[in-house]
Order: sequence, then C-alpha cells, then structure tokens
Amino acid sequence: MRRYFVGGNWKCNNTIAQTQSLINTVINRLVFDVAKVEVAVAPIFLHVPWVQANIQKNVQVAVQNTSLTKMGAYTGEISVEQVKDFGIPWVILGHSERRQYYGETNEIVGKKTRLALDHQLKVMACVGEKLADRESGQTTQVIQAQLDSIKKELTTEQWANVVVAYEPVWAIGTGRTASPEQAQDVHAFIRGWLKSQIGAQAEQQTRIIYGGSVTEKNALDLIKQKDLDGFLVGGAALKSAFTDIVAAAHSSR
Ligand code: PEP
Repeated sequence: MRRYFVGGNWKCNNTIAQTQSLINTVINRLVFDVAKVEVAVAPIFLHVPWVQANIQKNVQVAVQNTSLTKMGAYTGEISVEQVKDFGIPWVILGHSERRQYYGETNEIVGKKTRLALDHQLKVMACVGEKLADRESGQTTQVIQAQLDSIKKELTTEQWANVVVAYEPVWAIGTGRTASPEQAQDVHAFIRGWLKSQIGAQAEQQTRIIYGGSVTEKNALDLIKQKDLDGFLVGGAALKSAFTDIVAAAHSSR
C-alpha cells in the first residue's frame, strides 16, 4: 500500500512572524502517523533555517525550486548541492507558476529533476494542463509530454524518489477544484503511463498526488479516489485548514 503524501506549498507568502505563527499554531500541532502519511512543507528559502530548527520531527521541509546549474557563478540561484548540504530532503519542481512566469519548459523541468535526484534530493514533480488544453481535449497529451521530458532524463531506479503532483493549472489558486472523477481520470492515466513507460514497480509504488484548490471541504471526497495518494496544497496550507487536509488523508489510510 502506498503511503499517502501531503505537501504544503507556501509559495512566496509569509513574513517571518507569519511563518513562525503558522509553524507554532498549525504545523507543530499536526498529529499523524508517519507510517500512514508523509507531510512536507515548503517555505521560502530565507525561512528554511528557522523552520528546520523549529518544526516538529514528523514534518519534513521542502524547497520550492532549485537551480538548473550546479554551484558556481550563477547569481541569484540556489543549487541542489546547497539544498542537500542543508539537510533538506524535498524539492518541488515544475510547478505551473515556474512554468508560466519563469519560462520553465518541459526540457528544463526534466533536467532539474535529474540534477536534484542525482544529488539525493526527492522531487515533487508537477504536471498539469491549462484550461485551453482541457477544453480542446488535449489534457492527456499535455501531461504525457511533461512526463516524457522527465523520463528522458531519469533512470528507472530514480523514479523511486519522485512523487508526481497532478495540478491542473485552471484549478491552482482559483477556487475551482477538479471533481474527484476528473482527478481520478488523470491520475489513472498517469499510473498507466508509469506502467507502460517505467515499469510495474513504478506503477505500484509511485505516489500521484493532486493539487488545485484543495480545501478541508473537498479533501475527503478526493482522497477516496483509487489512484490519488495525497495532495499538494497551496492556499489552504497557510491556515488551519491544512490540519483537516492532513487528517483527511490520515483517516483514509
Ligand atoms: C499549488 O500551488 O501547488 C496549489 C495547489 O495551490 P492552491 O491549493 O492554492 O490551488
């Protein structure tokens, strides 16, 4: 049985005081069994040291991006070696906001994923279609192309350290969630792709999590879907709703 995974993507939110408050009032009060659910939160880079020092041991820390390049003369970047050196286990890559606002192509996401895995980071790899893709019947083609670009870079073994996050772009931060059936359809497609392209082990073991306006209200229905193994949460990860979302995943395992 796959262990569920719940990620909190805090994006470019929070002052120091707000991050401290979120840790103290929400994250450090989460009660869950790590054998059932893995939980990771991703603050901005500057807040990571404080978060690492003050977070309860059951919750892991992630970063929201890593550089396409290794350490060196790349002003403004933070490299995989530096993230690993800091003891951070996870990185979110290929988020639609990175694709949309910072020009990250499928090829870049594939290469970043490879670099992170080569340096023993685990990756939440985000894929998802835009509204126009969905409306023109291109959803699975778009997702397949995103997955193919990652596959091109990875060895079969490296998939053991990848969580695939299906995040329809039209659902991110919009309050418009995919229905459980819509989510399940795409998750089943991704699982089928894992089977045919990577192998039976990847099909059975890879967690496929859903992101896009997940709230404490819709989490329970979504998590009942057969191929849904947890969530990547944005807005609701900044408030007490995150407790209920973790609890929804926990109660289903
Ligand atoms: C996200 O940014 O990964 C996300 C899912 O955001 P939200 O939950 O706010 O839609």
